Amino acid sequence: MGVQTSALVQACGGCHGLFFEVRRVEEKLYAGVIVDVRAEAVNRIFQYAVPERYRSVLQIGHRVLVPFGRRKLEGYVVEFSSELEVEEHKLRSILKPLDPEPVILPSLVELARWMAETYAGLFSEALQFMLPPASRYGRERVGVKTAQVVALREGHPELRPNAWAQRRVVEILRARGQMLASELLALADASSSTLHSLEKNGVISLDTVRVERAVEVDAVPDPPIVLTEKQQEAVEAILEEMDGARRPVLLHGVTGSGKTEVYLQVIAEVLRRGQQAIVLVPEIALTPQILNRFAARFKDRVTVLHSALSLGERFDQWCKILAGLVDVVVGARSAVFAPLPRLGLIVLDEEHERTYKQEDGSIRYQTREVAIKRCALVGGQVVLGSATPAVESYHRALKGDYVLTELPERVEKRPLPAIEIVDMREEFAQGNRSMFSRRLREELTCLAGTRRQAIILLNRRGFASFVLCRECGEVLGCPNCQVSLTYHKGVNRLKCHYCLHQEALPRQCPKCASRYLRQFGVGTEQLEEALSKEFPELKTLRLDADTTRRKGAHASILRQFAQGQAQVLIGTQMVAKGLDFPQVTLVGVLAADLSLRFPDIRSSERTFQLLTQVAGRSGRGELPGTVIVQAYEPNHFALETARQHDYLSFYRKEIGFRRALGYPPFRHLTRILCSGPKRETEDACRLIANHLLDQGVAQRDLIGPFPAPVNRIQGRYRWQVLVKSDEALQGLGALPAVHPDVQVTIDLDPLHML
Ligand code: ADP
Ligand code: ZN
Ligand code: ZN
Repeated sequence: MGVQTSALVQACGGCHGLFFEVRRVEEKLYAGVIVDVRAEAVNRIFQYAVPERYRSVLQIGHRVLVPFGRRKLEGYVVEFSSELEVEEHKLRSILKPLDPEPVILPSLVELARWMAETYAGLFSEALQFMLPPASRYGRERVGVKTAQVVALREGHPELRPNAWAQRRVVEILRARGQMLASELLALADASSSTLHSLEKNGVISLDTVRVERAVEVDAVPDPPIVLTEKQQEAVEAILEEMDGARRPVLLHGVTGSGKTEVYLQVIAEVLRRGQQAIVLVPEIALTPQILNRFAARFKDRVTVLHSALSLGERFDQWCKILAGLVDVVVGARSAVFAPLPRLGLIVLDEEHERTYKQEDGSIRYQTREVAIKRCALVGGQVVLGSATPAVESYHRALKGDYVLTELPERVEKRPLPAIEIVDMREEFAQGNRSMFSRRLREELTCLAGTRRQAIILLNRRGFASFVLCRECGEVLGCPNCQVSLTYHKGVNRLKCHYCLHQEALPRQCPKCASRYLRQFGVGTEQLEEALSKEFPELKTLRLDADTTRRKGAHASILRQFAQGQAQVLIGTQMVAKGLDFPQVTLVGVLAADLSLRFPDIRSSERTFQLLTQVAGRSGRGELPGTVIVQAYEPNHFALETARQHDYLSFYRKEIGFRRALGYPPFRHLTRILCSGPKRETEDACRLIANHLLDQGVAQRDLIGPFPAPVNRIQGRYRWQVLVKSDEALQGLGALPAVHPDVQVTIDLDPLHML
């Protein structure tokens, strides 16, 4: 009992024969357990004895109860060994397994181990990602949803003649077979005591069954599609790699080129091989249409994991997935951990999206890297799809770490929309003080009275606290870092978020001496008002954080727009993604270059991506599309290359900057963030910075320590130090212990620095 023998067949060098070597008699004598405590001090594998009676039961990934000090704690079995690694008298035994089956797949235990190492986090924390949804929030909150099912017993005794309620129940059951108790009671107008007496008298049986909380998906038609030649080539390239070296495939296809169809075909092949697939999308709510297409194609073999589901719903889906009952999981970031036991493929749609980066907690992973690692562990294939690949991804593709396959044209040779860039400085000079350029007004005027639709995007990121000259478009930037300076109102100063540079707010534009220096800050609500005033005949809908707060509001707004209940959809970045409305022929972008001003090394890249994505919403149907982009810096290369639909030129320019400045993908940038009480936090951050210098990190590779741009959140002070390095986390080693009230977070290649 409990002995697993792994035999290894080897060729003998001497006699050219075969012999069997019993390499390892792996007796599950001892188990390595990670205890479920989030603390650095217990961030290691503890060895426990496996009691005899559990040796055949216990597996990697099992949740167990273990003694720990004077407490009993929950833990996870992450390995077995037949060698004792602690002093015998210190060895304690696992008390019992907490579930009949392991809750974490062995490959996911390995993935967690890798994540803890790669992102300098705790193993126990990494394992949290692998657990059923409920466990992460306290198991008590979610249970299995059950219902009572009633059935008539055969040859049951006669009922009393005047037991009317009982008679109605039996009649209904006779007519309809077994049914849910709740439904039956409603139909028969009876109470549960009626059912209980019927059960007691042996007339009916009452069974408690587990029911699944259903997840709703709109059914869409799924017309048969003949792949274009390019699509066919892409499918073949992916399958070839799948049967070969299994490098990730980067599918670079313009908007509307049929990438989704390529995913669908590859997944169909994966399923034919008896394997399973995960499809990751940036945010489920923003991409309801893609989801519906998967449901239409794969019917009940598909399930969806997303944050709008209740915990109970997610729990149910998770159990189904682990049990191997579904084959395709569609979901946002965290669905990369979906416990599919026969995983063969992970697709990341819109792989460049920043939502793929985990931005809180102690393990700030990049989903792309996790997907690649997970597939490497199980022999699966990764497909990364985008019209605007991340500079990092394209770089790896050109180097040959990824395989590049491209779809350069829209399906059915539909033209890409014409993009016009309007110079808002010019509009200002000509006396146009309105939000809309003359060109955009013209196009909106033409819309009235037709069935065509428009999308207007207001490019607004987080907080817009940079300063811009309305006359010449100059934005006050850092002399060292190629990012804009952030205006700090309280002290009336401009600060750089990447270095220590700061300066007083000038009275005049340093370039043209104009006094029209402004902070840019108009909201979607004001935009909607302005539009209604100028174009009362155009009905509008607004899609932003305010209007989508209510559950289901997002989908409902999109549905109304699809049904033509409004002609103009106004919104933030949300309207740029994945939407497919054939009646949309006009897209307007206001403050297109606002995102260039964001203090972020990826601001050019994001601006290019945003313009390309939103332009891709226009002209998807039979009618050609127009895009009008309003900007203050129309000649910026990110705008210019987006206008020309020229990813490659954009990439070449951008990669040059990255190389010159030593930014990713050439070097890594790690952010070490300390937060806590004022004094202690500053001390901790300085201590860490000094430690890094002692460890040989060069002064020029350290940025900081200095207060984080957002220097206080919920009463906690924040300081940070940024480290540039050639290898990930190089030189970081073990950081020195700091004051217990200070929390230290390590973020490898962060996407924001606030
Ligand atoms: P992308 O994901 O690249 O933006 P989609 O996969 O959404 O593109 O395809 C755009 C549109 O073209 C969709 O309506 C899709 O159904 C349709 N389509 C895709 N491939 C084909 C094809 N081979 N023939 C006809 N229509 C197609
Ligand atoms: Zn100026
Ligand atoms: Zn700077």
